[in-house]
Amino acid sequence: MRTIPGYIITTFGLLGILFCTDVQMAGGQGNTILAENKFTTSFRFKDYNDEKGNRKHNPEPEQIYGPIYSVGPLTVCVYLLKTSEGLVLFDAGYARDGNLVPDNIRKLGLDPAKIKKIFITHWHGDHSSGAAQISELFGAEIMVQKLDAEILRSGIYRGDTIGQPVKKITGIDDGQVFCFGDAVVKVIHTPGQTPGEVVYLVTVNGPQGECRALVAGDATGFKSTVEEFERNKYPGVCRDYEKTVSILKSIEFDLYLGGHPHQVFNEMREDGSPFVSREQWHKMVDNRHQQKKDFLKAHPEYADM
Ligand SMILES: [Zn+2]
Repeated sequence: MRTIPGYIITTFGLLGILFCTDVQMAGGQGNTILAENKFTTSFRFKDYNDEKGNRKHNPEPEQIYGPIYSVGPLTVCVYLLKTSEGLVLFDAGYARDGNLVPDNIRKLGLDPAKIKKIFITHWHGDHSSGAAQISELFGAEIMVQKLDAEILRSGIYRGDTIGQPVKKITGIDDGQVFCFGDAVVKVIHTPGQTPGEVVYLVTVNGPQGECRALVAGDATGFKSTVEEFERNKYPGVCRDYEKTVSILKSIEFDLYLGGHPHQVFNEMREDGSPFVSREQWHKMVDNRHQQKKDFLKAHPEYADM
């Protein structure tokens, strides 16, 4: 693993955009990026309940596109990236799920001892609490934006124990780029859920060519009940979220890898395909932004945060 300066990845990004544009012009499709037409996958984000309203079992691990796999439980997403330099995880699910993620990795014929790094989107327990055990068992290094790092390091949030403290942890920040073979991971700081929430723009090669995946965590979300807002608020949260909305809408990507499956099947594509269009993405972010505006209208006492 090595890090490379941001300007190099910017160049790659431009080449990617040019390549997509060429393909579309050849097909006479005009000037919008039709990501959903270029890539296909049989992977679908699935509803949590069956037709009778019963909760489904955890899904089997599954390839999403090229070297990217889904290895998490039913309601929160954990993604695996297979590279020539080992395995990389994005988020780690719940601690209470125990060996579910390592077992899913084994089911894919891969060895969890090869997990090099776990990139966390934000410290909330559904995404991060499983990381401590995976790190302990397999020596994986936990990578988290530096403003969220202390909570994971100590396992304490506002005086409450929220998880096992972790030792092997590195604070990362906006603009950092990590390369694993030909896969590239770029950190984009998108605070709002937590001060250190990030999304990862991950460029991989797959059967239909280079693909830009957005590991988005819950960055689109705003805590829109008093109880949730109180639990998660911090100085600057509302201003942060406003900036994050613009950042999220500006990111060009092909494959949406969110923090929870419902972000796709409820909010962007009923069929659950992870290849969402730019329009679907913008509509989802706008809807969630509206929830924030409605909340602050009803609770103006929070508007200046
Ligand atoms: Zn979540």
